[in-house]
Amino acid sequence: MAKVYVHTDIEGIAGYVFFMNTGQSMENVAHLQRMNHLLTQEVKAACTAALDWGADEVWVNDSHGFCYNILFEELPKQCQIMHGRPGCFDAWLSCFDGSVDALVSIGMHAMAGTPHAVCPHSRWHINGTLALSEATMAAALAGYHRVPCVCVSGDDQICREVNDKIPACETVVVKWGIAAQNARSLMPAAACERIYRGVTAGLQRAADIPPYVIPGPYRLNISDRDPEVTIFPEDIAGDDLWETVHRALNSTTYGHYGQDAIDDRSYRWPA
Ligand SMILES: [Zn+2]
Repeated sequence: MAKVYVHTDIEGIAGYVFFMNTGQSMENVAHLQRMNHLLTQEVKAACTAALDWGADEVWVNDSHGFCYNILFEELPKQCQIMHGRPGCFDAWLSCFDGSVDALVSIGMHAMAGTPHAVCPHSRWHINGTLALSEATMAAALAGYHRVPCVCVSGDDQICREVNDKIPACETVVVKWGIAAQNARSLMPAAACERIYRGVTAGLQRAADIPPYVIPGPYRLNISDRDPEVTIFPEDIAGDDLWETVHRALNSTTYGHYGQDAIDDRSYRWPA
């Protein structure tokens, strides 16, 4: 039995250069649908590679914005997907535990403050010295469960950061950042081919890719767009990475909806 977990975001897919994808205004709907289709194709390439490699289960986590982006009806029927309104629980890497054999991350973007990266945002600060992107934080959360991150796709800058921290991880560059909203990109079909090959190679080498483990105790903070500005006045402290990360996330306004209906038209996703 082998279970592969596919974590996803959208800013790192081939062809994506703008943040304007929250669907809050009607003029963005066509753009939103198009990007969701392109995301779905890349995720499908990763899932197909995992199944062809021999995975019995492929769990997909739709993890961008409202977490309802992937056109799941287009994924292989063997997949299962975690999606929909996040917040108030361990929503990041939802349902991830030690029964997973390998983490794959698709559509990843560089951390806030990264030059020549496409849509760089969010930066985890650990113990005041270590900076992590969402991709390497996901790898660290997998590492908490002693699960290796075997393949990451995105722009050249996120792939560079991943390989700085996890040299053995397979990385798939689908575009090269020129500026924050400008890139040289592969065509989607070529990106999907490379993702298929990268995920296959990563899974074949999984036993040789060490889980990314960050020793504790931890003091965490997060920056959104400006790497110099942290959102918590005091670092969030704890000895257990999984618990501390989720306590931090669930104390943010965007991670804590409570029973508020986020499909209410009055709700505004933070800019
Ligand atoms: Zn995102």
